[in-house]
Amino acid sequence: MSSWYSGGFAKGREISERQQQSRGKGTFEFTNVDRTRFFVRVAELRHIVFLDNFDWKINHEGNTIPVVPFGRYEHKLELDGDWKNPIYVTCARGSAPCKLCELGFKKNYIGAMTILDITPYKNKTTGEMMTRPFKKLLMATPQALCIIDSKKERKGNLLGMHYSVTRHKDTHPRTGSDYEYEGTFDFNSALVQGFDLAPYNLSAEKAVEFYKNLFKPMTYEEQERLLGNGNVTDGLVFRKDKRFGGARQGQGAQATGAAVGSQPQNSEGNDDDDGQPIDYEA
Ligand SMILES: [Zn+2]
Repeated sequence: MSSWYSGGFAKGREISERQQQSRGKGTFEFTNVDRTRFFVRVAELRHIVFLDNFDWKINHEGNTIPVVPFGRYEHKLELDGDWKNPIYVTCARGSAPCKLCELGFKKNYIGAMTILDITPYKNKTTGEMMTRPFKKLLMATPQALCIIDSKKERKGNLLGMHYSVTRHKDTHPRTGSDYEYEGTFDFNSALVQGFDLAPYNLSAEKAVEFYKNLFKPMTYEEQERLLGNGNVTDGLVFRKDKRFGGARQGQGAQATGAAVGSQPQNSEGNDDDDGQPIDYEA
C-alpha cells in the first residue's frame, strides 16, 4: 500500500460483503493477525470451545510428538509505532537464519490452539442475548500453557470442551488465567452449521499442515523487505514508556526504533500488556 486512503464506496461495499459472507461461516478473517487471536480482558468472562484434538500425534525426526499446542517462537513487531496492529513473524531459527534474531529482536515461545469463541452478547436493538461464534487462535505463552495443561491433565482431551474463561489481573496471561469447565459442545448445533471449523475433525497430518500454513516463517529476504518498509521495533519502546509514564504510542511516546539492535530485556516473552483495546465484536 502506497497511501492511507483507497477505494471509496466500492471498497466499503466489498469489505462489508466479505464480512457478511464470512460471518455466516464463522471464519471471519481467520489468519495469523491480532484480531483473530483470542484474549480476555480483566474481569471479563468469555466462553470458548476447543477445536483441536489433543491426541493428535505425528512422527518428527524419529520422535512421536503431539500436534497441539503447536509450539514455536515468534517475533511480535510494531511497524511505525502502531502497537494496535502488531505483525507476528515466526522465528526462522532452527531451519534457517533469522534476520530479526540477528538484530536482537525479542522472541516469544507461543503454543497455538484453535478455539471457537461463543461468548454471548446483547443485541443493542432488541436487548436479546445472542451468540455469534468466531473461530480464533488461542496463542498461549508458557504461563498460559501451564494453565491449559492442568485442565488437560484432568480431562484428558480438551476437544469439544466448553470452558468459561476469565482473567483476574492484567499481569495474568491475555488468554485467561481461570478456566471453568462448562460441558461438552454439541457440534451438531444449529449455531455452527455450515461453519468452517478446521482444524476440527482433521487428521493429525492435515492439522500439522493447517498450522504450518498459518505460521510459515518468512525467508531472510522477506524479513529484510519487511524491515525496509518503515520503522520496525519489537515493542519494547512502548513498554518502557508505559511503565514509566503511562504514555502510549501517539500520545507522547516516541517510536524511535531503539529496540533494533538492543538486547531483549524480557526474553521470557510476557505478552500480557493489556493496553490494547481491540474490539473483536466490531
Ligand atoms: Zn528469530
